[in-house]
Amino acid sequence: IRVAVPKETASGERRVALVPSVLKQYDKLGVEVLVQKGAGAASGFADDEYTGATIVDGAEALYEKADIILRVQPPTVEEAGKLPEGALLLGFLTPHEGDSRIRNLAKRKVTSFAMELVPRITRAQSIDALSSQANIAGYKCALLAAQLSPKLFPMLTTAAGTVRPAKVVVIGAGVAGLQAIATARRLGAIVEAYDVRSATKEQVESLGGKFIETGVKAEGEGGYARELTEDERRQQQEVLADHIASADAVVTTAAIPGRPAPKIIDKATVERMRGGSVIVDMAAETGGNCELTQAGKEITHQGVVVAGPKNIPSMAATHASEMYARNLYNLLALIVKDGEIQLDWDDQVLADSCLTHDGEVRHAPTRERLE
Ligand code: NAD
Repeated sequence: IRVAVPKETASGERRVALVPSVLKQYDKLGVEVLVQKGAGAASGFADDEYTGATIVDGAEALYEKADIILRVQPPTVEEAGKLPEGALLLGFLTPHEGDSRIRNLAKRKVTSFAMELVPRITRAQSIDALSSQANIAGYKCALLAAQLSPKLFPMLTTAAGTVRPAKVVVIGAGVAGLQAIATARRLGAIVEAYDVRSATKEQVESLGGKFIETGVKAEGEGGYARELTEDERRQQQEVLADHIASADAVVTTAAIPGRPAPKIIDKATVERMRGGSVIVDMAAETGGNCELTQAGKEITHQGVVVAGPKNIPSMAATHASEMYARNLYNLLALIVKDGEIQLDWDDQVLADSCLTHDGEVRHAPTRERLE
């Protein structure tokens, strides 16, 4: 069995699906590993560090020989249409969009596993790439907020006077939000946080944050949040607006799986903030939690900076790749047994995360959308 690791082609993507330290574990799987020349360069791993792997020049030559392909970003429509027939593909595959790509995967009879679909169950924690990358994104967003702020985050007592700690508000306290809270706290900020899932109150408090009560609770399926009704949204906004208006920095991470990001901060609220305040909107790529967010840009509105960074995990490409490579390895270990591909469809992790197999779209919501 040959496992192939291409160089990512998406613009701005610095991560790679396999790093040298995880490659060592591949011995246990009994597979041969092929790495495209320069695949790890952008995340700080040189070709000669991939000891034991064969370095292949060019994507075409790589794919030609591949039984299993490991990627970070989904292939383009064209790339998907050229994958070796019947190959396995593991990576982020954006099942909620990119219909032509998904059709092409099915056409090529590719068995694809989407990291987005890995069930959030205890047994699959080591495979949960959404979490590993969200952790990194939350950390980076807190640092970005500190960097963009003209204020210091910690309290300083100096001969030149005392600096009061910054007040940071974090909205959405999932994996990324909790890491943003922890990071802002480590920098010395005073942190307030809010999430629609009430289970997060305790988690926020355990990190030294103060939970903002809005009275709105919206637990959805599978431990995720559901979309709010218009009334709930208004109620939430009323309470949050006061907290946001007095914040030095706001980090927003609110998301509903497969849906556009919930709009939580409107223009009027931004206009109530002091000049020099900062909003870092982690949800920029799915439409943004703030009405003024522009994906991939930093805009200034009445003195308030609104940043909508894209592909945040890629900003910490070395560790993001390392963690992602471990997630992929753990998934691969469920697929490859004694040097052979053995797909056990009774395994919930494999059944749930499979996007296409044998010419069909297996993931029911995606199949229904494509029909
Ligand atoms: P996510 O990225 O889908 O969403 C981020 C956060 O936004 C969530 O906490 C959500 O509740 C919140 N949110 C949604 N709408 C909101 C709104 N209008 N206002 C404020 N907040 C809003 O979520 P995630 O971080 O991927 O994880 C969410 C859940 O999954 C958590 O309960 C987490 O503990 C759980 N989880 C479980 C496992 C596991 O057991 N293996 C692994 C990872 C995550």
